[in-house]
Amino acid sequence: MTKENVPAIQFDWAQLFEALNIGLILVDEQGCVLLWNEWITKHSGIHSDTVINKALINAFPEPLAGSFIAAINRALSTKLPVVLSNALHKFPLPLFNLNGSGERISQSIILSPLKNLHDQGKLMCLIQVNDSSTSIKREQMLRDHSETHKKDATTDPLTGIYNRRFFDAHYKLEISQAQRQKTTLSLIMLDIDYFKNYNDHYGHPAGDAAIIAVANCIKNKLQRSSDMAARYGGEEFIVLLPNSTSTAAQLFAEIIRQAVFDLKIPHLSSLTAKHLSVSIGVSSCPPGMIVDADTFLKNTDLALYAAKQKGRNQVQYLPL
Ligand code: GH3
Ligand code: MG
Ligand code: MG
Repeated sequence: MTKENVPAIQFDWAQLFEALNIGLILVDEQGCVLLWNEWITKHSGIHSDTVINKALINAFPEPLAGSFIAAINRALSTKLPVVLSNALHKFPLPLFNLNGSGERISQSIILSPLKNLHDQGKLMCLIQVNDSSTSIKREQMLRDHSETHKKDATTDPLTGIYNRRFFDAHYKLEISQAQRQKTTLSLIMLDIDYFKNYNDHYGHPAGDAAIIAVANCIKNKLQRSSDMAARYGGEEFIVLLPNSTSTAAQLFAEIIRQAVFDLKIPHLSSLTAKHLSVSIGVSSCPPGMIVDADTFLKNTDLALYAAKQKGRNQVQYLPL
């Protein structure tokens, strides 16, 4: 705003300073306090009467931080504003929240040199103090929210392993990588046997607990960081094994099948065994074979179907 377009209204500058929701302290070149607004009084508990025309360094009941005094001197000597960022200087002044907690306000401070019209050639330093606690809390909240959101988008809430959405995205990347690098990619699809009966017999909460137990069992058996397990549907899981031959994948599937069976979760309404069991389909895409993602998945599903047909609680492999 230039001098010409400052609105020609009469107002009380003192009233304006008091109304601002920001702390203002004005000091002259000697560090003598010329202005101390209501906001500073409220948050420091120190009335302006006791500090006006006195040295700022004696205004507070504790010594001022060296970095704060240096910043005033820098603003006056360079004639440029200085910013004390909240990241580096959290609480430069002893100013407190009004909620009675005794907590110090987290501050961002700007020190600006001003011409002293009453003392030609001399400067003053305007110290503006902003309460940055709210913006910091807001930022933290947004960060937390985005972390939770990211996690929600990739993991299954019941079991904590990856969800189908994440699997689908990851699977496409792995297929193209395997084709580029000419390695074998194997897929394992796993389904709990007679799970509808299990729910009917033991109740839905027990069913949930069984799903979690199977998920943990699979997760604990994964051997390489590139192996990846996801909950594919209700009681169905999928495991992606990059760089794994069909033989290795079948062995791995057998390990999981046995491990689930060894949990010895009673399943009296199963028509296969006395304990909870799983059927597993395995399929592998050999090096150099170009296959589209859906065909590969369908083939694995067919292998799982064969395991169900042949009596459940077993692993079936189906070549592409
Ligand atoms: P099959 O051996 O042929 O796989 O038989 P099944 O009974 O396991 O298969 P079906 O598809 O008929 O039933 C699956 C059941 O899984 C039905 C559904 O109520 C249950 N289910 C799916 N999601 C959940 C879940 O999140 N929690 C619980 N408790 N049950 C679930
Ligand atoms: Mg099923
Ligand atoms: Mg089932």
